[in-house]
Amino acid sequence: MPRLDSTTVIGRFAPSPTGPLHLGSIYTALASFLHARSQQGKWLLRIDDLDTPRNIKGADASILTTLETFGLHWDDSVVYQHQTLDVYNDRLNELIKNHQLYPCTCSRKNLSSPIYSGLCRHKSILPESPYALRLKTDSRLISFEDGLQGLISHNVAEQDGDFILKRKDGIIAYQFAVVIDDYQQGVNQVVRGFDLLTETPKQIYLQQLLGLPTPDYLHVPIIVDAHGYKLSKQTQATAVNLTTPSSVIFTLLQLLKQNPPLELQPAPVAELINWAVAHWQPASLKNVKQLTA
Ligand code: GLU
Ligand code: ZN
Repeated sequence: MPRLDSTTVIGRFAPSPTGPLHLGSIYTALASFLHARSQQGKWLLRIDDLDTPRNIKGADASILTTLETFGLHWDDSVVYQHQTLDVYNDRLNELIKNHQLYPCTCSRKNLSSPIYSGLCRHKSILPESPYALRLKTDSRLISFEDGLQGLISHNVAEQDGDFILKRKDGIIAYQFAVVIDDYQQGVNQVVRGFDLLTETPKQIYLQQLLGLPTPDYLHVPIIVDAHGYKLSKQTQATAVNLTTPSSVIFTLLQLLKQNPPLELQPAPVAELINWAVAHWQPASLKNVKQLTA
């Protein structure tokens, strides 16, 4: 499925170094890899390490080893978000100068709704106590066609409110960082889990505000356990077994609804991946939101 224009597809995988990769994260990695590689695209790796309290020492190294073991070889050098702190802060300062941000001292406890009401919008002096920086959102409609989940229309001001770009603890918010990062890396194709679909309108809003291009988005189903919970560190999802990578990839290709031929099951991981790149059919996942492992 070559692109109509001549630009190279640039996809990426952006795990947070909060622990070893589990089946659900490798599922997403594999989907984004196959989607980029099947279009002769590049596939980049970024370690989303801004949320320092959640980082686990050594997790980044373990993620790299795991991806290599599964034959998911990335292009270029690995990017770490912490290398970009100056860029985020410069961009934030521009927005402050343009009066597009405001300090907010509210705590989650004293907010009755997850949609921020704009309580601090008119604060003119910087508070003494720690504050977050919120974006003054306007009531525009964000519409985009997700490659798997169809047309999404969302009003950020009404459905999210003025969201946070820099947290009270000084940490750059995920929404803001991801937009700058994807732009800096030239990413034009984002394949990630369905759980992030609700974050995408905020990111497109920011792209519009900053004058940045919007990548293509595909939100693949998340993998849930028998109780319907997303596989994650919180649900004690175990790290994948690195000793049998072929059987893990085979299972993941089944979960990606790619119908890998049974005779391929014992093949080396590189052969499985080559088959999957050549036969990639993302449409099999259309409108699928979750799958049970
Ligand atoms: N670092 C984010 C996560 O692990 C993913 C970011 C993204 O794909 O946009 O949930
Ligand atoms: Zn506030």
